[in-house]
Amino acid sequence: MRLKDKVAIVTGAASGMGTSTAKLFAAEGARVVVADLLEAEGEAVVAEIGAAGGEARFQKLDVTSEAAWESLVADTIAAFGQVDVLVNNAGVSGSDPDRLSMSTWDEQMNVNAKGVFLGMRAVVPAMQQAGRGSIVNISSISGFVGQKFVHMGYNAAKGAVRLATKAAAVQFAGDGIRVNSVHPGVMPAMRTSQMTADPEVRRKMLAAIPMEREGRVEEVAYTNLFLASDEASYITGIEVPVDGGYLAM
Ligand code: NAD
Repeated sequence: MRLKDKVAIVTGAASGMGTSTAKLFAAEGARVVVADLLEAEGEAVVAEIGAAGGEARFQKLDVTSEAAWESLVADTIAAFGQVDVLVNNAGVSGSDPDRLSMSTWDEQMNVNAKGVFLGMRAVVPAMQQAGRGSIVNISSISGFVGQKFVHMGYNAAKGAVRLATKAAAVQFAGDGIRVNSVHPGVMPAMRTSQMTADPEVRRKMLAAIPMEREGRVEEVAYTNLFLASDEASYITGIEVPVDGGYLAM
């Protein structure tokens, strides 16, 4: 079991890559906190993990709320005694056809950038006290390059996640905390996808991928698993694309 005796918080775990990550972590021995805005879907993930013999609890979380983060960490420690891993995965799509939307810029900065900072801010003190921890921040290929089908706010927010990851890695390495970023490529559309859910747009996006297919959620989950586990004990501050070769072109 690759995460035996570890406690992991996975945000956005009621859907997509977060669900896949939460299930895989539980199957590998972690006690998992499924954190999301979506209660019914999150509880269903917890039930599935339980039915498969794993241990998990749901906690409602809005990643933009400092108070909600404080409760999440306090409740996790009360229930499971520790926090070893945080996967900052929750996010909203930036595929807004209005490229100059002010509200999309603000939402991107608030959820996709600030939400990740608040997550690190909430868990770091507990990890410092324990002298160990692994944080995996989910960015995107959009954190490296501009794209036609997403609002620049998404690129800017995911770029912020990429560099904040490196800053945190450098600043907290001495505390035994590792911080890395994962950059999924074209994956199944997000719940909040607009343009990137359009079949014609997706066809064009797939044409730019050397492996000529979209990624599978478990391909990201396995990357998260490696970085969360002690197998990656000398790895911090790196960025891992899971993108079928997109960024290699
Ligand atoms: P998804 O829409 O299936 O899941 C996102 C989850 O985040 C949902 O359960 C949603 O309820 C939750 N969430 C949204 N806002 C929240 C908030 N304020 N507080 C708490 N939870 C919130 O999306 P996904 O495809 O699984 O994406 C997961 C991560 O991967 C996101 O950060 C996304 O930006 C990133 N990503 C996705 C793709 C893709 O093509 N799907 C590609 C690259 C990166």
